[in-house]
Amino acid sequence: MSESPAPHPGPRPAPPHAQSHAQSHAQPPAPVPAPLQAPAPAAEAALAARALVKEYGPTRALAGVDLDVPRGQSLAIMGPSGSGKSTLLHVLAGMVLPDSGAVHLQPNTPGHVDVTSLTPDQRTRLRRERFGFVFQQGLLLPELTAEENVAVAAMLAGASRARATAAARSWLAGLGLAEHAHKRIGQLSGGQAQRVAVARAQITEPEVVFADEPTGALDSHTSAVVLGLLLETTVDRGRTLVMVTHDETVAATCARTVRLSDGLVVADTARGAR
Ligand code: ADP
Repeated sequence: MSESPAPHPGPRPAPPHAQSHAQSHAQPPAPVPAPLQAPAPAAEAALAARALVKEYGPTRALAGVDLDVPRGQSLAIMGPSGSGKSTLLHVLAGMVLPDSGAVHLQPNTPGHVDVTSLTPDQRTRLRRERFGFVFQQGLLLPELTAEENVAVAAMLAGASRARATAAARSWLAGLGLAEHAHKRIGQLSGGQAQRVAVARAQITEPEVVFADEPTGALDSHTSAVVLGLLLETTVDRGRTLVMVTHDETVAATCARTVRLSDGLVVADTARGAR
């Protein structure tokens, strides 16, 4: 069983001058118990997760996770295999519903959405229009060209084919792939394909980009190039990046690392990186 998250601090005890004379000579009053409520999401949070629990049969993939991700932050999620990293990413992104708990996108703003209260169709729309995804593999369609793969993401978010194609071309050129725009994914190197994946994730100008081992299949040099582009196209433009990785070097490029163990956050470290 997990411990419940740290409770919100309760109201402070009355200051000494407000207490009766008799009380002031007695033992200090017992602390007021904290109310049983989740902490309020910070105003500047892009994402606020509260008390997330997800079980698969007897396995507790998430055992009560609270997490605020400020807007514009790069966050690495680390932890041993099976600790719940991918499940947390999928729940934050509205791909998997938790058994209990909530995920708020842009809390305390006009764009606020309780991701966990949406219908499946609404969650699909949210993912297409407000989130971007870069996974190790699987999101790019091998039978389409690089340009088509990127344009499809824009069309799914509502752009016309002409606009989507023009934007795809521009994103691919910006990521150094102008000459490869008309190649199929299978004709590209791993690093080139991941740059296409970055373009695909960014073309809709998403608020949050989710990445799951985005450089897991790349050599260290190519990995650094792709990570640099991922950070440039997200946090350098005020967007938020949430990235699952098992690689300390990759995590070190992020401003913050959260470590999971047995479905719980066990460490939360900020560093000077962007
Ligand atoms: P990580 O990404 O840290 O390796 P996961 O989030 O993939 O961890 O998995 C956490 C736990 O939940 C593991 O024990 C895993 O086997 C289990 N799990 C994850 N997804 C499923 C699923 N779809 N069905 C059954 N068990 C799952």
